Amino acid sequence: MSLALISHDHYLDHDQPEHPENANRLRTIHAMLAADYELQQHLTPHAPRHATAAEIEAVHVPSHLPTLQRMAQFGDWADAETYILPDSVEIARLAAGGAIVATDAVLSGRQRNSFALIRPPGHHATADQAMGFCLFNNAAIAAAFAQREYGLKRVAILDWDVHHGNGTQDIFYENPDVLYISTHGWPLWPNSGHWKEMGAKAGLGTTLNLPLRPLTGDMGFHLVFEQAIAPAIRRFKPELLIISAGYDAHIYDPLGNLALSTGGYAQLSSIVYNLAAECCDGRLVGLLEGGYNLEALAQSLSATLQTWVSGQPAPIFNQEVSHTPEPDVTWLIEHLRREHPLLKG
Ligand SMILES: [Zn+2]
Repeated sequence: MSLALISHDHYLDHDQPEHPENANRLRTIHAMLAADYELQQHLTPHAPRHATAAEIEAVHVPSHLPTLQRMAQFGDWADAETYILPDSVEIARLAAGGAIVATDAVLSGRQRNSFALIRPPGHHATADQAMGFCLFNNAAIAAAFAQREYGLKRVAILDWDVHHGNGTQDIFYENPDVLYISTHGWPLWPNSGHWKEMGAKAGLGTTLNLPLRPLTGDMGFHLVFEQAIAPAIRRFKPELLIISAGYDAHIYDPLGNLALSTGGYAQLSSIVYNLAAECCDGRLVGLLEGGYNLEALAQSLSATLQTWVSGQPAPIFNQEVSHTPEPDVTWLIEHLRREHPLLKG
């Protein structure tokens, strides 16, 4: 089976060339994929659709969409760094709808896995607030779609963007049926995602945060994936695994402070591929979040796609691996093993 790849040229029209989250991100990815004839043989292109108001309101307050539409009339900023152009809200609806199409392609059984090349990204958008380059929370909308349309009980969202997905955490913080896991640089904007944030009320234990010290790289990521994230997912038993796939944890990223290599991203892609195979019949959906070094973004994303179509970590000749010692992550794993409900005992 091939991988469903969701993309659309309209995503290029949400653009501020001087802003890090600009259309050249997708242009670079498209160019790299177009040049990879071997990989293309395994990708099935899918067109996105617009998310409906009801699909958006499944995770956002009812006033969120009309508020953004009003701001878009003349162009506006949702916060100091989140631009909204006249077409941006429609394009963001197409991004959320792209996440839905990616989810539908997998849950219908047509494809084993999928990846949505969408923008604007989504994981900072809270139930009532556009922020951090994000208008609608694409991953949350996709998870809610999976539960509503396919009757799934448990969905896991794993967010490997360098920034904490405060919006996704906020939306599902009291929800026991959606496991939200994030690895992120610490300290780093938006400064949420302390390891003690574990969910609340019925959702206590279904938020798992792994704040990583600056310059944590391939080794540290591998340890937290194998020793904290994989056991938590096995215990939660999701029926679908959604990856909030940000590539700004790459060592060359200008906004990030972590040090993953392109080969490191291939390794993480392999771990989640195997976890999906083990826990949820291989059902795996990738949604593009951040990533601002254009070359590192396109190469790392391509490594994810190669890994997911072959089932083997993409062979990457790593030029980026530094030999300086990485910060220790065992303290974090030990704290979580002692205190996190999904990892205790
Ligand atoms: Zn990010």
